Amino acid sequence: MNPIEIRKDFPIFAEEINGHPLVYLDSAATSQKPRQVLDVVKQYYERENSNVHRGVHTLGTRATEAYEGARDKVARFINAKSPNQVVFTRGTTESINMIAYGYARMRLGKGDEIVLPPSEHHSNLIPWQQVARTTGAALKYLPLQADGTIRLEDVESAVTDSTKIVAIAQVSNVLGTINPVKEIAEIAHRHGAIIVVDGAQSVPHMPVDVQDLDCDFLAFSGHKMCGPTGVGVLYGKKRLLDEMEPTYFGGEMIDVVELHESTWKETPWKFEGGTPIIAGAVGLGAAVDYLTDIGMENIAEHDMNLANYAMERLTEIDGVDVYGPPVGEKRGGLVTFNLRGVHPHDVATVLDSAGVAVRAGHHCAQPLMRILEVGATARASFYLYNTEDDIDALVRALQQAKEFFG
Ligand code: PLP
Repeated sequence: MNPIEIRKDFPIFAEEINGHPLVYLDSAATSQKPRQVLDVVKQYYERENSNVHRGVHTLGTRATEAYEGARDKVARFINAKSPNQVVFTRGTTESINMIAYGYARMRLGKGDEIVLPPSEHHSNLIPWQQVARTTGAALKYLPLQADGTIRLEDVESAVTDSTKIVAIAQVSNVLGTINPVKEIAEIAHRHGAIIVVDGAQSVPHMPVDVQDLDCDFLAFSGHKMCGPTGVGVLYGKKRLLDEMEPTYFGGEMIDVVELHESTWKETPWKFEGGTPIIAGAVGLGAAVDYLTDIGMENIAEHDMNLANYAMERLTEIDGVDVYGPPVGEKRGGLVTFNLRGVHPHDVATVLDSAGVAVRAGHHCAQPLMRILEVGATARASFYLYNTEDDIDALVRALQQAKEFFG
């Protein structure tokens, strides 16, 4: 895998930012898009555009084949047993909300528990707060170690027969910790609970096999894995999807409509009310092809190596605090840090003036910020088009920021 060659696929790297070549270290927020994806979306609109599942005309058939073909690709990518277990949604947030509303709210009640880490992205936290609020179920938080990792013995003691749902990210978007979801799924299942995996930061960066993990639901976003914005995936075990209620009602998702009651299509179409995200799904299919060609094992190794290199370089700088697992530990492709005494927004602004794009803020994880005892952090995140040179540029710009703020 050659990131220098890969960069040539991404037109955005021709951009200059404040007179500097773009150093894009914000892929955990959203990834850049290769020409292979942009071309497929353009071609879809130029040659195939039509509504799906309805038209008997040729374009209708082309659009339906492109849309359902994308579903097949996504299913193969995560090793789902059947494409019918892949629901197209707007992204991770919508997928998790659909589980919360269509599955959890109907089943949970007083005395039931939802177990989750306090480090979750708000998208995998607030929907569960809402379920707890409306059903009387309780939220039970897992303890975090100082480096943000979770101990399986803590999961063993937190999960009981009262647990109905365990909700957890496979990779933390702030700390880069990789959670042992396969082992956690086994613990959940032993107590009759289901596990909901937030794959927003894992599916784009490492091989994810839903059958091997034995997860009940998996949510992820297309825009973080070289696909377009506005499309994501809800994967679920067939039985659970069949039991789950749709969230959106209207055209496309129905079987028979009477004046006083209606029936739905089968899974997954019952969840895709209204005109679906056709071009988005087609673009996501192209992104899956692109990533598969490069190889998810290669991408995982590359991203992890870059994160470790960044950890090494950042910890060398006096006055920089780095969070998450120490250098050399397994981690996702991101590093979160602070320049002591300087607000991360100011740090990010100085970095931007050198063409270096990083994220600064609470990263949609306010409870975790409180645990870390910070208001905000800066985060550099890496993907298949980044190189060690990008990290060297980050370190140089950070040294400048340090001098600037004295
Ligand atoms: N979960 C995690 C771990 C994330 O990093 C993100 C996005 O940053 C989300 C959920 C939400 O994803 P989206 O905004 O695409 O719905």
